[in-house]
Amino acid sequence: MTAVPFNDLLRAYDEQRQAITSALQRVAESGWYVHGPEHADFERGFAEFIGVDYCAGVASGTDGLMLALQAVTAGRQGAVVTAANAGGYTSTAARSLGLSLIYADVNPDTLCLDVNSVRAVVEEPVAAVVLTHLYGRMGDAEGIAALCRERGIPLVEDCAQSVGAERHRQRSGSFGDIATFSFYPTKNLGALGDGGAVVTSNESLAQSVRRLRQYGWSDKYLVSQAGGRNSRLDEMQAAVLNVRLSKVDEWNARRRAIIQAYSAVGRATSPLKMLTATGRDHTGHLAVALVDDRDATRAMFSAAGVATDVHYPMPDHLQPAFSSSASGVRLPVTERVSERILSLPCFPQMTDHEIERVCDVIARV
Ligand SMILES: *Cc1c(COP(=O)(O)O)cnc(C)c1O
Repeated sequence: MTAVPFNDLLRAYDEQRQAITSALQRVAESGWYVHGPEHADFERGFAEFIGVDYCAGVASGTDGLMLALQAVTAGRQGAVVTAANAGGYTSTAARSLGLSLIYADVNPDTLCLDVNSVRAVVEEPVAAVVLTHLYGRMGDAEGIAALCRERGIPLVEDCAQSVGAERHRQRSGSFGDIATFSFYPTKNLGALGDGGAVVTSNESLAQSVRRLRQYGWSDKYLVSQAGGRNSRLDEMQAAVLNVRLSKVDEWNARRRAIIQAYSAVGRATSPLKMLTATGRDHTGHLAVALVDDRDATRAMFSAAGVATDVHYPMPDHLQPAFSSSASGVRLPVTERVSERILSLPCFPQMTDHEIERVCDVIARV
């Protein structure tokens, strides 16, 4: 019996093989490889898709976080407030800018920051809040945006996992002051390599990110902003993203259907509880369950040929490289949940047969 993979990126390529290969060939034969017409098309198309005024392509999601934080915290004092359960990307970006972090605990139902946990920590000086829409489920973007507006704190949305999520027809990435996306190959909108974007409707923030991503230039060879770097989305990746962008809503719906199928088979008394993904405010990026005896459960899936993973096994404040600056931090929900989360296979090109095989194991847990 063939195994059920955790993901299979080749199937996504195969689904649009003709369109992707001709786009790549078009770029190769155009002689223009960085910031050309494909990139301009993508920036325009992606801003329109999200429903914001500006999009800047960048080299990765982590670079996006770095550039967005650099732009919004310019001239501000204080730490970056974020969750500790989101893979460490915001911590990496903030620390690379010399910014310190305050971790707020997450809501036990959404596993994202909530307005109460943020309110509890914004009494101290805060340079920015980063809300990660974890697993593709939108956190309380409206509530946290309102709190941030009231306190004059910039809000960054990390939408690396939530591309296309929408609530009342408003997409994630349009609630805060600025938002970041990753096009790492396993994301819901993935490139054939690294890529990212920063979106905003604030013109001066957009200008700042555009300068900082390219040496601080406002014009060729004119460095008008300090702290710049080279972080560009290249023409090949932009061409792939242009082919894939129109598929995102359809793919997200398929991911949600897979998670719903998993949710439907669990018995009420099962120790394995799926986190649901029913509405369009969830992209179904990851199919995550909570289970008490994770090791034994993983072994059951593995014995049945079903690959699993954990996103993420270690909260930021406990990471060896970060823990010295986070000593004494206690995040009961984050810590408890990190020991119980288990990710099951979920990608749009999974076959019905593969989904059934995962369901069969869920029913036996
Ligand atoms: C993947 C991811 C990132 C980082 O994106 P890269 O392109 O790999 O740098 C940031 N935040 C979240 C929530 C992610 O899932």
